[in-house]
Amino acid sequence: MASPSHRRSLRTRRAVLVSTAAVAAAGLGAAVFAMTANAGPVDLAHQVLPAKDGWAASGTGTTGGAQADSAHVFTVSTRAQLVKALGSATNSAAKIIQIKGTIDANTNGAGKKLTCADYAAGTGYSLAAYLKAYDPATYGRSKVPSGTQEKARAAAQAAQAKNIVLKVPANTTLVGVPGTNAGITGGSLQVKNVDNVIIRNLTFSATEDCFPQWDPTDGSTGNWNSAYDSVTLRGATHVWADHNTFTDAPHLDSANPKYYGREYQIHDGALDITNGSDLVTVERNQFTNHDKTMLIGGSDTDSVGKLRVSIHHNVWKGIVQRAPLARIGQIHIYNNYFDTTTLNGYAPLYTINSRAKAQVVAEHNAWKLPSGGRTAKLLSGDGTGSVAGTGNLVNGTATDLVGAYNAANSKKLKTTVNWKPVLTTGLQTTAKNLATELARTTGAGVLS
Ligand code: CA
Ligand code: CA
Repeated sequence: MASPSHRRSLRTRRAVLVSTAAVAAAGLGAAVFAMTANAGPVDLAHQVLPAKDGWAASGTGTTGGAQADSAHVFTVSTRAQLVKALGSATNSAAKIIQIKGTIDANTNGAGKKLTCADYAAGTGYSLAAYLKAYDPATYGRSKVPSGTQEKARAAAQAAQAKNIVLKVPANTTLVGVPGTNAGITGGSLQVKNVDNVIIRNLTFSATEDCFPQWDPTDGSTGNWNSAYDSVTLRGATHVWADHNTFTDAPHLDSANPKYYGREYQIHDGALDITNGSDLVTVERNQFTNHDKTMLIGGSDTDSVGKLRVSIHHNVWKGIVQRAPLARIGQIHIYNNYFDTTTLNGYAPLYTINSRAKAQVVAEHNAWKLPSGGRTAKLLSGDGTGSVAGTGNLVNGTATDLVGAYNAANSKKLKTTVNWKPVLTTGLQTTAKNLATELARTTGAGVLS
């Protein structure tokens, strides 16, 4: 058990306990924190969310697995090792899981690659049979699929879910080992009904549903819907998502076929925050090559009094929509850089959507708008959501995005909110240099 990394963790643990208290008392940020302890720098795996760094710093703050004992510090590089280290979903012992290299979630216990055909085996599902069974020309458009092929599809989907959904228990830090291209491909991290989780320095790629479901009643022309977000927070509290990269690559939406005239969408969200999740800080991530990127609140009736999320210093590039789509909660969006140039076929619809009475404060963010792009299309709403805040730049110029949106739309955004952000460590009151600064300080792989 006493691997070199294991021993290193033991050595630094005492130092962390000292410096955590010191930092909390002094209200210092992460950079200072890492250098505080007399016993030496705190390693990446033991760092905790700095004081006042967004909503996840509220109350008890977010420490993940920083207090793990030596038996609960793991280094994993296969899906099987990761599953074992996570343990049961109700295992609340503080634990640090360091991911080394890229873990493919579509592998079995022996490390063998699993394909969509493997998950479908024995279920009777085939895409050709499914398409024949629910063709709107014969099945109509008034009812959702049911019957033999839908049952088979659900069974195949359940087989894939069993393999790729990775349930994160309370008091966990998941962190990529620097210099190893650490991440999870094809997986869906699920943080459900647990508290205190840190997810850092990981690349989440190619989260794909082998078995999208046809819903002819979704919208006016029906939609293909997929089941998995790369990271999904459901009823989760105190979560810090920091320095991660989210991307559909290598299978981009431009490669999706169309069936029944609609895109056969194999991706769902990148980082969705739903079902009464609360106290979340999303910091210095890169979101790229993705359509429905971040949902806050799964429906207009998701929990009132929760869904409090801080989103800061992230790069959004090649994103179609939901950056984020915000419902109900008090949501602080600051110091982000949104590049709305079409990238790899991902053509932006809008950036921030505030609906279902969401109380969004968006300030000191920077947008890049390509020539021909319209400022009025950067926001969206249903007429009940708010977007307050100043200091937003479009192509370097201070711009009233809400004013531009409201001048062009009948369902107007409200401009006042019922709260004032106070957990704002690191907030910069100018967005001028964000494009340059965030290019080298965000995403997986820049921490050491
Ligand atoms: Ca969906
Ligand atoms: Ca989702």
